[in-house]
Amino acid sequence: MTSLFISNERDETIEKYLCDSLESDVHYYNYSQFQEFESMLEIADCIILSTHLSESEFKKIKKHINDTSKLYFFNTNYFASGNIPYDPQKLLFGYNEYRFIDKIQIPIAEHCNLNCNRCYHFSNLQNQEKFYDFEIFKSDLKCLKDFGFEINEIRFLGGEPLLSDELFDFIKFASSIFPYTNMKIITNGVKLINFSDEYLNKIKDSKAIISISVYPPVMKYIDSIESKLINKNIPYEIFRVGNVFNKILMEEENKNFVSTAEECEKCIMIYNGVVTRCAPSIFINIFNEKLDCNFPEEEFDRVYDFDSRREMLQYLDSPFELCHYCMGDSDPIGYEWERTDSKRLVKKDYIR
Ligand code: SF4
Ligand code: SF4
Repeated sequence: MTSLFISNERDETIEKYLCDSLESDVHYYNYSQFQEFESMLEIADCIILSTHLSESEFKKIKKHINDTSKLYFFNTNYFASGNIPYDPQKLLFGYNEYRFIDKIQIPIAEHCNLNCNRCYHFSNLQNQEKFYDFEIFKSDLKCLKDFGFEINEIRFLGGEPLLSDELFDFIKFASSIFPYTNMKIITNGVKLINFSDEYLNKIKDSKAIISISVYPPVMKYIDSIESKLINKNIPYEIFRVGNVFNKILMEEENKNFVSTAEECEKCIMIYNGVVTRCAPSIFINIFNEKLDCNFPEEEFDRVYDFDSRREMLQYLDSPFELCHYCMGDSDPIGYEWERTDSKRLVKKDYIR
């Protein structure tokens, strides 16, 4: 049996684990060697893709595989945490089983404390406090578990997730239901500027990774935030590139909406009982209301409305109503960060 393991970072421990678990030779390829392994995709018996690959890298490889029954995902992130289960079935997921979801977004708070103009989640336009209901969250997540899904990463975000007093309850519950899943808090870092030791301990105990998108108001504090996270041994990542925004909506219908929706970095989101493929589609009602527009608002299917996990993933693969008027990630013009000024809130800041 010939097995390929494709990732973008070599890790010999993983290769050994896969060889031992599958009782087969496993040949490692870096994704950048695409031309070298392209011809092997058809003849290999088993193709294992690291969950470190991006959606677009995955799509490019999949195009070359006719028999998808030999395609698997390997949960590299969880393996890296050091808690390696003996049973490879815990970390290997067959593509045809419709069992694996790379990441799920959980918008704990619709509102935000930074209010960036052109925010994709329209959190800058939400001037009331609105949170994901914890009881609904529990039943949404149980429903995904009952379907038999395994999830690589759950991302708690917003708006700003640190505005929720229940954040750590959400993470604790999610970890109990999905123990092999990475938990990540995606924050703008504002609340971290003056965080207490007690709060740091809560972050550490949650075992979640802190991911900070740094916008200009937080820039001068980031070194001090970072050193506190290091001192507490809290895993973190920092993106210092978050000062450019794009327009996402279009006045006229996007003739290429199918390809825009295919190329857009789809990230499944669940929120108060419904499931969607992106934040703009679920929060467009806030935009319509604030700026007196009529962009399509989806009739979302509820998490428990689906008969099978296959049906749910197929629903999420098809374009939504808003995709007809959306540029996804394709607007080439970047705008410098600015705070929303409610006195000069204008549609043209969002619509191309
Ligand atoms: S920090 Fe993020 S969620 Fe908050 S307004 Fe800015 S882009 Fe939106
Ligand atoms: S509306 Fe469609 S194209 Fe726009 S971000 Fe969502 S999924 Fe992507």
